[in-house]
Order: sequence, then structure tokens, then C-alpha cells
Amino acid sequence: MDKQQEFVLRTLEERDIRFVRLWFTDVLGFLKSVAVAPAELEQAFDEGIGFDGSAIEGFARVYESDMIAKPDPGTFQILPWRAEAPGTARMFCDILMPDGSPSYADPRYVLKRILAKTSDLGFTFYTHPEIEFFLLKDKPMDGRRPVPADSSGYFDHTPQNVGMDFRRQAITMLESMGISVEFSHHEGAPGQQEIDLRYADALSTADNIMTFRLVMKQVALEQGVQATFMPKPFSEYPGSGMHTHLSLFEGDRNAFHESGAEYRLSKVGRSFIAGLLRHAAEVSAVTNQWVNSYKRIWGGSQRTAGAGGEAPSYICWGHNNRSALIRVPMYKPGKTGSTRVEVRSLDSGANPYLAYAVLLAAGLKGIEQGYELPAGADDDVWALTDAERRAMGIEPLPQNLGEAITLMERSELVAETLGEHVFDFFLRNKKSEWEEYRSEVTAFELRKNLPVL
Ligand code: GLN
Ligand code: MG
Ligand code: MG
Ligand code: MG
Repeated sequence: MDKQQEFVLRTLEERDIRFVRLWFTDVLGFLKSVAVAPAELEQAFDEGIGFDGSAIEGFARVYESDMIAKPDPGTFQILPWRAEAPGTARMFCDILMPDGSPSYADPRYVLKRILAKTSDLGFTFYTHPEIEFFLLKDKPMDGRRPVPADSSGYFDHTPQNVGMDFRRQAITMLESMGISVEFSHHEGAPGQQEIDLRYADALSTADNIMTFRLVMKQVALEQGVQATFMPKPFSEYPGSGMHTHLSLFEGDRNAFHESGAEYRLSKVGRSFIAGLLRHAAEVSAVTNQWVNSYKRIWGGSQRTAGAGGEAPSYICWGHNNRSALIRVPMYKPGKTGSTRVEVRSLDSGANPYLAYAVLLAAGLKGIEQGYELPAGADDDVWALTDAERRAMGIEPLPQNLGEAITLMERSELVAETLGEHVFDFFLRNKKSEWEEYRSEVTAFELRKNLPVL
């Protein structure tokens, strides 16, 4: 038994923990959990815990359903909302096949594979997510419009603001689970919040995002409201993005940084961005995986109506251009580590393991193939005409899930990164969501057509 495993077993005893939840994530990004008694843990560390994989979205076919969850002791945390003795703790798991080999259905393994390749190339990949979400008074299950929990706006700081109490309690809980928060504020829409996590290696970030979503829902319930990570719950307000700042390090050195270069961006940084841009359309189905995701990035007449809320619709990069898909944030003097790229397409409903895997793969492809970075877009790309954008070589992101699926289906990069099992399952699942949506007669059509036709 290794040191981390010993630490877990000792802590269970010292803190009187009676329940240990083993967590993992299905292909669509939903958290799954199985509770085991502490007495079972020693064996779980050795061999894992068996479960029926056919009951989990995207895991196994019925005739090969035995799968194994093996806890990662480095992710052990006590759940603060179950802290009074006897307590409850959790660990993230890797999913294995009965013969002990890693399961190709496990999103954590998808990310681990591309991270291993990254480290073979000499890099470590860091991510810093800005997570937006809504607090709602209720979550109607029948398609009615939800009601936001407050009526504040961007950076508002008002007494009796539900968000303020909420953010304080939520952040305290995250910190007690070892997840550091860098910024938090009220976002642009009523009920909308943003909490930014401190940068960490991508696997920890993805685990942290899974924990984050659960903690937000938990704290919301305690305060009599509901949290949602749906990308665009309201037509007239901005949606919830999960902008993520990415950087590659070689040892202690930021591989994106070069003093003296334009924007202090190194060759590696420029090629990485070029990779993100060239493959942006084909990875969209993964970074923006729901029918609803495309209502956020095509949120109406963007700035003028306010409903687009600075979500990107076009494939371009810029320095201080918030309409761009990729932004190179302002350099902080003296902080070479701060050179990074911000990807703004990603939304809060994505599976973070898969989304980070495809973004990283796109960036690495740019480095390996030495892609040239096209000129940056300094204009507001929404304000340009289609012809002007075409002249500048600026293509749109997919306009709906159907288009995104078609592009993903042809993508070697996505197929290779996700692996055959996840790639096939994901496409099948998303096609059926798209078919279901297409065949639905919506309130929009009834409102538009019934009075006049
Ligand atoms: N909510 C916007 C989005 O969906 C972002 C707003 C902001 O952080 N500037 O991407
Ligand atoms: Mg922000
Ligand atoms: Mg924001
Ligand atoms: Mg941002």
C-alpha cells in the first residue's frame, strides 16, 4: 500500500468517516457515485469495486457490462455538507475492465491519454476556468420559463442579493475541499454568477469542475434556490460560458511566453492558437454539446440586444477583443507565467474531461505541424458584414448541433483523441438528441404561424 492510500485509511478512522463515495463521470459529463463502507477500501485500492457498466451512459454494452471503479487516493476529500460525524468522503475513480486494463469509455482516461502525450513532448498543461451559471427560484420540469433568483447585474454588490450570501458559502465549501477560488462576481444576467478557479493541471481542473457543479447545486438547495449550468436558459439574457485560460509549461518556464515578441507570445504559443483555430469547428460538438449550446453562441444580434453576451460566434483570435473565440489576455508586467490563451466557446454544460482533451489535442497539432497563426481580429467581428468577414478569412462556428455533429464525424483529430468507443457513442447520442429536437414543434412556431396561417 502506498503513502496516499495509508493516509486515506488513517483519516477515515481519525475523522470517523462511515461512508466513502466513489465518483466517476459518464460520457456526457454526469457525475456518478457508489458508496462503499470503509472496510471495503483496502480491497478497492487493490482491485477496485465492480459495478454494472451497462447502466451508465456510454460505458458498456449489456453483454460486456462488468466494469471496475478504482479510487484515486490523491483525490480524497471529506464532503463539507456531510462533515458532522459520522462523516462522508469522496474519491474520484479510474474505470477499468475486468482484466485490469483502463476502460476506453472513461472520460478521465481520454484526458489522461492526451496528457501523457503532452508530457512526452516535454510540456505540462494548465487550465484556469471561469465558470458561469444561474441561480433560479425554481426549476420547472415541464418546459415553463424558470425565474432567476435575483435581479442584479454585472459586478452588482447590493444588500439582500441572494448571490452574495451564496457565493460566500459556496467558496468556503470549495476551499475546504482544496479547490482554490480566484475571483467571483455577479454576471450580466439576473441570477447569473461567475466563479473562477485558480489554475491547476488539467486533470485536477476537470475533477474540480465536477466537484464544483455538485457543490453549487448543494449550496443552492441549502439557500432555497436552484443552480443550473444549462448554457442558455433565457432567450433575452446572455448564456453561461466556461471560458478557460490555457497554458503550457516546460518545467518552470511558460512555453507561451517570449519577451520582446508581439503580445509576448512565443512560436509555441502562436502555433497552439493556430491549432485551436483550425480545429475549432470540428471540436465544437464536444465543447458545446447540447442543442441549447448553440443558442448561446448564436444568441441573436449579439451586442445590440445584449442577449449574445459576448459569446463568440466566429473563429478568430484577438488581443483585447471579447467577440473573438480566442483572446490573449493582457500581460501582467514581470509575470512571465501569466502569458496564456483564453478559449471562450466552451460552455458550462460540457464534459470537462472531453472538452479539455480535444482543445489540448487541437493546440498540440498546431505545435507539431508548425501551423502559422493568421492575423488577429481587432474589430468587433459581430459588427462586420458577412462579406467583410469572408474577406478577412473569418469563418463562423457551427450554427447548431446538427452542423457540429457533421463536422465532428469527419474529424480525424476528434476520433483519435476520444478513441473509437467514446467517439461512436458520443455521435450516436448527439444525433438522437438532434433528431428529437428537429421533430419537435416549438412554441416559437406556434406563436409565429398560428395567428396568421
Ligand atoms: N456570459 C458570456 C458567455 O457566455 C461571457 C460574459 C463575460 O464573461 N464577458 O460567454
Ligand atoms: Mg470572467
Ligand atoms: Mg464572465
Ligand atoms: Mg473570460
